[in-house]
Amino acid sequence: MGSSPPPHVVIFPFMAQGHTLPLLDLSKALLCRGIKVTIITTPSNAPTILQYIPKQPLISLTVIPFPVVEGLPKGCENTSHLPSMDLLPSFFTATMELQQPFEQILREMSDTGCLPICVISDFFLGWTLVTCRLFGVPRLAFTGMGVLSMAITKTAWEQKPNLISKSDSDTFDLPGLTLPFTLTRADLQDILRFPDCDDSFHRFISAVVHYDAGSWGVIVNSFTELEGVHVSALESFIENGGKAWCVGPILLYDEMGYGSASDNQLYIQWLDEQAVSDSVIYVSFGSQAHVSDTQLDELAFGLHKSGHRFILVIRSKTWTPPDGLEEMSKEKGLIVRDWVDQRRILAHPATGGFLSHCGWNSVLESLSMGVPLLAWPMMAEQRLNAKIVVEGFGVGMCVPFGEKSGVLGREAICDVVRELMGGEKGRKARERAEVLGRMAKKAIQKGGSSDKSLTDLIESLSIGT
Ligand code: UDP
Ligand code: UDP
Repeated sequence: MGSSPPPHVVIFPFMAQGHTLPLLDLSKALLCRGIKVTIITTPSNAPTILQYIPKQPLISLTVIPFPVVEGLPKGCENTSHLPSMDLLPSFFTATMELQQPFEQILREMSDTGCLPICVISDFFLGWTLVTCRLFGVPRLAFTGMGVLSMAITKTAWEQKPNLISKSDSDTFDLPGLTLPFTLTRADLQDILRFPDCDDSFHRFISAVVHYDAGSWGVIVNSFTELEGVHVSALESFIENGGKAWCVGPILLYDEMGYGSASDNQLYIQWLDEQAVSDSVIYVSFGSQAHVSDTQLDELAFGLHKSGHRFILVIRSKTWTPPDGLEEMSKEKGLIVRDWVDQRRILAHPATGGFLSHCGWNSVLESLSMGVPLLAWPMMAEQRLNAKIVVEGFGVGMCVPFGEKSGVLGREAICDVVRELMGGEKGRKARERAEVLGRMAKKAIQKGGSSDKSLTDLIESLSIGT
């Protein structure tokens, strides 16, 4: 008698780095538990994914063509390559056309008796629920957000009619949620700040919310010790008693999340040369935010003026450092224009602060490595994350951006950098980050809350099939 085949899980990430990377880490965690994983993606996303996952028979990639859609540059299959975030709705439209090939994949699995115990798909691919139902496969939604930001967003979405009459500075309560801070409309995503539109983007998000609710459960990249008190509020949005499974920080399953950049990367060598621990501030706005060149000038001067050492990662193709700046800050600053191994930078003992746009992955990575944040939110739910980081978790400070989205000057930047790296607020935030970092590592170790949650999840799914 042969042994029974390993359980099979299908993972379908949305084509944005911040959404794909945590699901790749989750794939590795499943693999370590003897689960067979099939990842679905599109041609130009495949090479990056293949670089990231181990070459093992139990993990494979299924590649489906990315649809051609009017308005989207050909070959643009990842949001990090969108010329402008205004094209995001067209990108969503394109991904909806992946439904038919996805159905074909499940049909072939069904025909060969290899249906998975579940499909874990990004919430932006909500329509996967419809296909999963055709084959009786449970679908779990992955949102790439934290528990509290998701609970606030879902509650606010339900309360949209009340938000219309508010101004950005009005505070408001959200029923069913006990918040660790006062919320104003300005903290919310733009789609909730301007809730009376009825364009295709709003309809798309309405559908996503509906599909989340009908799913078997939600996978959350967070851990109980950090956000457990808000789990029931989030679960109230899932029908039929579906659960929110906190299995994070998912990055820590990847060899404790310390990154894998080779030692000969210039920025690693530069960090190795720094004699003082916690002396460098790492600055990055993630894989998709666009920062204007005027703002980058101010940022570079502000960092230089602060006197602290810095690594500044730039995505802009048009920005060049202002005259003399690179020379002036040669000893103290490193400007990098490539993709960096952020985890390796954050895990380095020389790194003592992170000026971040507060994408949820960046928040978790920083906190897991005990590095305090200087929050500079740009878009999406990042304003909410910034509030949670500063007023909820107590692991950072915010840059003093005003209500008008103007350019933040070098003086103001210099002051907050000094406070984070050398001031009392920064010291407290670092202490708190170190405490939470230890809790995060414990959560994913054997017997920890997230490890148990992942085991329970797999058991529940295996029993159900
Ligand atoms: N990242 C990286 N190197 C870079 C830029 C980003 O490793 O040069 C990683 C980062 O560590 C994080 C992800 O890309 O895991 C970005 O996700 P996040 O949620 O922070 O922000 P987004 O890019 O989605 O806005
Ligand atoms: N990327 C990645 N890991 C890497 C290198 C690149 O995930 O090690 C992704 C990331 O989304 C990045 C994209 O590939 O935005 C392209 O890389 P890069 O930023 O260097 O060039 P771009 O095409 O954005 O100009």
